Amino acid sequence: MTSPAYDIIVIGAGAIGCSAAWHARSLGAKKVLLIDRGGIAEGTSSQSSSILRTHYSVRENVELARRSWSVFTKFGEYLDDPQAECGLNRCGYLVVAADDERGEAVRASLAQQRTMGIEANEIDAKQAREILPLLNTDGLAIFGHEPEAGYADAYLTATAFARAARRLGVEVRQGEAVESLITEGSRVTGIRTKAGTYTAAMVICVANVWTNRLIESSIGVSIPLVAERHEVVAFEAPQPYLPSYPVLKDMASESMVYARCYGRSQLLASPGLVGHATDPDERQADVPLDIIATLGEQVAARLSSFDQAGVASTWTGLYDVTPDWNPVLGPLPGWQGLQVGFGFSGHGFKLSPAIGRLLAQSALGLPTEVPLAPYRYERFDEGALLIGRYGKGAVS
Ligand SMILES: Cc1cc2nc3c(=O)[nH]c(=O)nc-3n(C[C@H](O)[C@H](O)[C@H](O)COP(=O)(O)OP(=O)(O)OC[C@H]3O[C@@H](n4cnc5c(N)ncnc54)[C@H](O)[C@@H]3O)c2cc1C
Repeated sequence: MTSPAYDIIVIGAGAIGCSAAWHARSLGAKKVLLIDRGGIAEGTSSQSSSILRTHYSVRENVELARRSWSVFTKFGEYLDDPQAECGLNRCGYLVVAADDERGEAVRASLAQQRTMGIEANEIDAKQAREILPLLNTDGLAIFGHEPEAGYADAYLTATAFARAARRLGVEVRQGEAVESLITEGSRVTGIRTKAGTYTAAMVICVANVWTNRLIESSIGVSIPLVAERHEVVAFEAPQPYLPSYPVLKDMASESMVYARCYGRSQLLASPGLVGHATDPDERQADVPLDIIATLGEQVAARLSSFDQAGVASTWTGLYDVTPDWNPVLGPLPGWQGLQVGFGFSGHGFKLSPAIGRLLAQSALGLPTEVPLAPYRYERFDEGALLIGRYGKGAVS
């Protein structure tokens, strides 16, 4: 039997794939190919709000977010590239809630974070206003503050990982779609594109909302994954939402709105609820006026001066949603030579450094630093869903 051309092929050069390819090479894979049908980070990563927090109710996610945060905060050093930039703004995360079930979930999540050694404080209304002077605290009872949080830039992050990967000798092929996986019995042995075939000891498929098409058509496994459209609106108000202001999560608002500074003074905001199922190839769509109006009302109710805000821009993005809004990581049952990472359900960017590392470890047959078992594919059939106190949704 001839040996495969590559140790590892990574399909999909988004935030997850670029991280996986760099980690694979760093962890010892000699020949690595990163391949994308488009360009680096041109998929859903380019649409990301790129918020970084460790605030989760699902403990496993806290661990992945914490490990990833430590990469974002020493990014150039981690990639051994002083010019590497992830666009980090360490402005903190403020989560507010009424005295209700969601508020209890916030309290419990903060307490869980603290047991894990993370600074996650419950503060009072006055302290919250000191951090965010525009905040209207009417109806709020719970204020959670995570100082070590903020947002970054998913495009910068992915391209930095890709550049670092190239420097280590990873081959990056762009504009080349993978048409199918190649199999021998129950083993994936490579990929096929229009340009030819590439064999590999292991294929890591991280093609986001396009994963099910490729997997189903190649190996007949029907995976539970829905492409959901989500809307993002940038508002501009008479008073700026400054870069020093925290990311805001308003659990008391009807749509569980999240918001952060955009540029130097605008506010990026989006509803934090379930979106609309859509065709994964419908990349951009108009944001309907009623969505802008509903979102705008909730933002105006929470932030002074935003009752006079105008709309600066709007865009849509796709979430790759699984039944429990958490990813599947690792092998697919019954198949060798294949690792998958899909279903990031609107919160994968903040986890991408850790997930890339874990997928690379798993692909190389190394012990994973964090168990992947909770993220196993089989959990859907076993009923062992990863659903925390917030129920289904990207806050998880
Ligand atoms: C509007 C929005 C807001 C978000 N906000 C946040 C946030 O605040 N914080 C957070 O942590 N996460 C957020 N997310 C989620 C986060 O951005 C994603 O989870 C993450 O970027 C996904 O990265 P990826 O590498 O899996 O996917 P992608 O970036 O979509 O990469 C997948 C790649 O696979 C390629 N591909 C697909 N099919 C093939 C094929 N057949 N052959 C070759 N290549 C193929 C695509 O071209 C694409 O480049 C948000 C997402 C959206 C849409």
